[in-house]
Amino acid sequence: MAGTGSRPPGETDSPGSPATPEHTDPHPLTGQEFPSPVPPGTGWPGDPATADTAVARTATQVARLASRAQTTAELDAMVTVCRACPRLVDWRESVATTGRRASFAAQPYWGRPAAGFGPAGAPVLVVGLAPAANGANRTGRMFTGDRSGDWIYAALHRGGFATQASSEHAGDGLELQGIRIVSAVRCAPPQNKPTTAEKATCAPWLHRELELAEPTLRSILALGSIGWDATLRTVREMGWVVPRPKPKFGHGATAELTTPHGRTVRLVGSYHVSQQNTFTGKLTEAMLDEVIASL
Ligand code: SF4
Repeated sequence: MAGTGSRPPGETDSPGSPATPEHTDPHPLTGQEFPSPVPPGTGWPGDPATADTAVARTATQVARLASRAQTTAELDAMVTVCRACPRLVDWRESVATTGRRASFAAQPYWGRPAAGFGPAGAPVLVVGLAPAANGANRTGRMFTGDRSGDWIYAALHRGGFATQASSEHAGDGLELQGIRIVSAVRCAPPQNKPTTAEKATCAPWLHRELELAEPTLRSILALGSIGWDATLRTVREMGWVVPRPKPKFGHGATAELTTPHGRTVRLVGSYHVSQQNTFTGKLTEAMLDEVIASL
């Protein structure tokens, strides 16, 4: 189990507030019973948090806790218990309890923010939009258990970055090699549309992610314009040199970013692996393979 951030005064509440604490469902792989949302540190595969992990309840607390994370493991733990956006907390937990997709009705739902997935120190970082309501919000792992994940993990497997081509549940053995996946917003938003304020509140988690990743980072794959814009905004805040005018997002677009240490990190854009792009043929497997091969 990964380490957790320690809990400062005033940030001591348990993050879990399941609407039906008496009700549990079995995890599809392990069979262990869990309430939904899943309380931290209770045995969910890959849960980086414990009952003592510090909980951010305001934008100010997100910024403070994120800046305090000394390791990616600490960051992951604190991300997964964050409650700073009331609308998103309500949404993710209502989907996890009363709003489950019928085909998943008998499964427990993670119902918490999704941590980054993949090894710390990876040379490639993927920045997506946000967890899916019945995907990562159910399984607890980025792009796991939804159609977008079918696409991205198959492509990462073809590219040598993933040990498996599919990803159904946390705990299924999938590992990433040389790549880590994060999102600009860590909670599933209604209609996949976080508000400007929610994006701003969540931004410090990505900021710290990039600070911790920077020493070994070679390239960043931004999935969609929100991932692209969030990355550029964050690295500018960190003092990286970004070309002007601002590089424009597009599939296959690239930009050379320079860190304060003089290293060059390549930003590559890809259409998001959402169904509206993959079903319509706007994004094909060949197009995705090409950008992944360039990382
Ligand atoms: S979107 Fe980000 S800041 Fe808001 S509650 Fe989720 S993890 Fe916290």
